[in-house]
Amino acid sequence: MTNEELWRAALGEIELSISKANFITWFKNTSVLSNENGKVVIGVPNGFAKEWLENKYNLYILKALRNIQQDVKEVFCSIKTNEDHSFQENRVDAIQPPKRIILPKPFIKKTLSISQENNLNPKYTFENFIVGSSNELARAACFAVSQNLGRIYNPLFLYGGVGLGKTHLLQSIGNEILQKNPDRKVKYITSERFTSELIDSIRTQKINEFKEHYQKIDLLIIDDVQFLSGKEKTQEEFFHIFNYLYQLNKQIVLSSDRAPKAIPTLEERLRSRFEGGMIADVSKADFETRMAILSKKAHDEKFNISLETLSFIAENITNNIRELEGALNRVVVSSQLSGKEPTLEYVSTILSELITSGKKKGITHKHIITVVSSFYDIDPNDLIIKNRKKEVVKPRQIAMYLMRSELEYSFPGIGEKLGGRDHTTTIHACNKITRELKTNDKLIEEIAIIKERLYRIT
Ligand code: ADP
Ligand code: MG
Repeated sequence: MTNEELWRAALGEIELSISKANFITWFKNTSVLSNENGKVVIGVPNGFAKEWLENKYNLYILKALRNIQQDVKEVFCSIKTNEDHSFQENRVDAIQPPKRIILPKPFIKKTLSISQENNLNPKYTFENFIVGSSNELARAACFAVSQNLGRIYNPLFLYGGVGLGKTHLLQSIGNEILQKNPDRKVKYITSERFTSELIDSIRTQKINEFKEHYQKIDLLIIDDVQFLSGKEKTQEEFFHIFNYLYQLNKQIVLSSDRAPKAIPTLEERLRSRFEGGMIADVSKADFETRMAILSKKAHDEKFNISLETLSFIAENITNNIRELEGALNRVVVSSQLSGKEPTLEYVSTILSELITSGKKKGITHKHIITVVSSFYDIDPNDLIIKNRKKEVVKPRQIAMYLMRSELEYSFPGIGEKLGGRDHTTTIHACNKITRELKTNDKLIEEIAIIKERLYRIT
């Protein structure tokens, strides 16, 4: 198989797993430059593409390449020099996505221009947000901002694990503003989309248009800014736009899966900007809040279910609210389709799959190593080799803990998977993390995010 054929097949797969706009922005004009001894080098047109492909899309690329050629171990990106230009042009055809998914031209153009919509989902409101101790600070901060736009907390930075209601709260601010005054200009956008539009405007020399568009906005909501991590050039441009809007007293609201100081390789000046306003966290909901959310959703759907059964769901689905909603939906749909009452017994069979361990879901120790190292922004090999550096010791202990809790590996088995360590080391690590989890909220959050990612990649 030639490099061109390999890349064409891989692109076909990648395109199916990410959004069209992202695919076009980041994978246009890429090609495989070399493929030797399990190392694949991808040629990219610029530094932005290199950053995003290496950080954000590395797993997708690796997975797609491995499906075609099993011995692929590593992927690197290299910026194509001018000498490579003819090379690039020769390959333009080769790197088009397969025929069936080529996008029509007008569509490509539209996705690359600045989106004009506010992107708000009207279902996210303060009224239908259940308040509990895990989210009351964040909810109060968001509400205050919605009443005092640009005048109270700027920027407002919300952080917390996946599926805990950040997007819901962020969008509630926008919906609240528009409800009071439909003429206000509100815009919700993910950090990925924002940067891809920004970069596109730089590339097409439309940066002024971009700035003009944002200048008119009263409330700018940027979701999931952790995706800027490790992307220096992108951060630099982001910083300039951020400052520009900030100076115009535009209200900026941001969210991330962790606090600014915990986002690895976030440029210092951007971090201090984020920290300059108000920071509020959302943590895992306690049992009472989970029950309240379930009862409300069941009530909204006019679904008859006993409190006993609801509390079974709330006890067992603890990771996040999205999973909680998913579990309830599954129960509602199964019960309606089968015509069966949602008794405790029925519900426990329906949900048994969600409640079982990772072992049954095909997760392996390799997945754990990949997810943990990417979360802490370290080299996966550092988890395996003998290395006592502080920044790798904790992630390694977490990897050990997860191999035990999710895969039920034996202690010697865990040691073997992590560079032949002694079982006493793995016992110590697992005990330490178990102990810390009783008191350390930050660790609870981190492990919840890691688990969520783990279950998403398989
Ligand atoms: P995040 O952005 O933190 O990943 P989302 O805002 O997407 O999480 O929330 C996931 C789902 O859970 C959404 O459907 C949201 O409406 C719901 N949800 C989260 N928290 C609450 C809450 N406190 N009350 C009601 N629904 C909630
Ligand atoms: Mg979200």
